[in-house]
Order: sequence, then C-alpha cells, then structure tokens
Amino acid sequence: MIVRDVYALIGDTPLIELRTLPVPNGVKVYGKMEMMNPGGSVKDRLGLKLIEQAIERGQLERGGTVIEPTAGNTGIGLALACQRYGVRLITVTPEKFSQEKQALMSLLGATVVNTPTELGMKGAIAHAKELAKHEGAYVPEQFSNPDNPATYVDTLAQELLDDLSQIDLFVAGAGSGGTFAGVAQTLKPLGTKTVIVEPVGSILNGGEPGPHKTEGIGVEKWPPFLERSYVDAIHTITDDEAFYYVAHLAKQEGLLIGSSSGAAIAACVKEANQMTEGTIVTILPDSAERYLSQGIVKEAEHAYKDSTHSRW
Ligand code: PMP
Repeated sequence: MIVRDVYALIGDTPLIELRTLPVPNGVKVYGKMEMMNPGGSVKDRLGLKLIEQAIERGQLERGGTVIEPTAGNTGIGLALACQRYGVRLITVTPEKFSQEKQALMSLLGATVVNTPTELGMKGAIAHAKELAKHEGAYVPEQFSNPDNPATYVDTLAQELLDDLSQIDLFVAGAGSGGTFAGVAQTLKPLGTKTVIVEPVGSILNGGEPGPHKTEGIGVEKWPPFLERSYVDAIHTITDDEAFYYVAHLAKQEGLLIGSSSGAAIAACVKEANQMTEGTIVTILPDSAERYLSQGIVKEAEHAYKDSTHSRW
C-alpha cells in the first residue's frame, strides 16, 4: 500500500472483534482501533477538522498561531494538522499528564506550556485563554466547539455504519464528550442504545469530582454539546476495572490499549451481561504505549493479579 502522506492515513481504522471477554455467547463486542491513526489516537480526526474549519471560515490563516488546552491526544492531532497548514501551535497541558504525549506534541513542532497538575484541565483552559489574548491566537476550544462532535458524525459514525449492518449498543468514554456525542447522535435514531463510560472522580453520574488514574476521560462539568437525550446509560468505572481490561486484552488478545479503552471495555462487559444476544461497539481511543511513563504496565499487572472476572 502506497500512501500520499500521513493525512491520508487518518480515519478508516479497523474494527476488531474482541473474542475473549466474559460475555454471553450471543453477544459480539467490537472495538474501533483508533490507535491506528498516524498520531496514535482518535483525536487525529479532530485536530484536522478543527484546523480545516478554522481556515475555511477565515478564523485562522496560514502562518497564524493556534493555542489549545489539551491533555495530549488532541494536541498531537492538532500538531499534525498545524504542520500541514503552516500554522504555529502552542498547547497548554497540566504538568503530570502523560510525558509521551507531551514529548510527541513537541516533536511534531508544538510548543508545550505546562500548568500545575492540581489545577486540572480547568487551570489549563484558563491559562490558554490568557495566553491567546497576548498572542492574538486562535483557540479551537474543543470543549465547546460544535466541530468537535461534528467530526465524529462525518467520519467515525459513518465508518461504523459501513462496517456493521446493526449496532445494538454503543459505548464510549467522555473527555470532551465529542466522540460520544457525534456517534450517539448518529446511531440513536437507528435504535442503538447509547452508553457513556466515565472514571470514578467524574461527575456525569452525579458523583463528586476527584482524581483518577484513567487518562483521557472524565469531566468536571457536563459537556455543552452532550444532549441528555443522547445518553441512555452512564457507567462509572474504577481505575482498577479499567486497568484490569488493559491487562486482559494485552494478555488474551495481543491488543495494546490505554486505560480509557479499558474503562470502555469494562462497561461493554457489564452491558453485555444484561443481554442474551446482539452487537456492541466501542471505541479504543489509544494504546498502552502512550502511558508507559505513567506506570500503566504496573497498574494493569496489579489489577489483573488481584482480580477475577466475577469480581465485577
Ligand atoms: N480517551 C482518550 C485516551 C482521550 O485522549 C480522549 C480525549 N481526551 C478520550 C478518550 C475522550 O474523547 P472525547 O474528548 O471525544 O470525549
């Protein structure tokens, strides 16, 4: 296969059947392998869309500057897109977030500005807005920009519909909520049950905000573009459950996933065990490789050793 450039590789990711999960025989679970995007995550799709739309609408010009608060994957997607359009990128990222993601953003040409970890994404967002004023920069604002869910309506949701004739249940984690909102709004009118997954420490299910080790998902306030009518159920997953499935898929299926994928799989298993047959689809946003410095291997091994399937 010969490809024109790296951008031609964004999207059209494989959908893998997960065959070793503890689910009833009649239930099939599929994972969309978003780690196969060239920047390594589901957010390559978003980076490209945010920059293309901003240029098309005249909000950004070649040679301009973009500033965005990001935990990393969106920053990597934006860095790829900014390179394509000759745009300078500054990302604002809480200090202790994955070093791999920060290093990759930087390698792709972004300037990474760190904010104190204890101020969370809120602190990064506030700092990015402040910086943007001084730099005269464009801020895509993935957390409120309607192009975020629209990205996934146009690409990911269509790919799922091309691959499967029926999707009974869809599960995805919410960080900005863009992936879930875009896919859920497309699938729900077709009769699909739509399920959000969040870590303990996220507020969607009415819980208190707090720290969690599962990275990429979890919110401090309800995302503005996430209509409540898109959401049929919310599963709040412990870090241990998420890491357990990181280990399970690595050891049983040779599949390397990050902890947000692990949380999504945990929710799929819970839902599957309330069904006798049907098709479940989830998103695997990125790979375990992105979290080696965060100790994902140790966390996963620990959760795997301490657990049995029946515990959850
Ligand atoms: N998982 C990972 C690893 C992510 O980086 C993100 C984006 N922060 C998500 C899940 C959630 O995606 P979204 O922002 O579309 O809700």
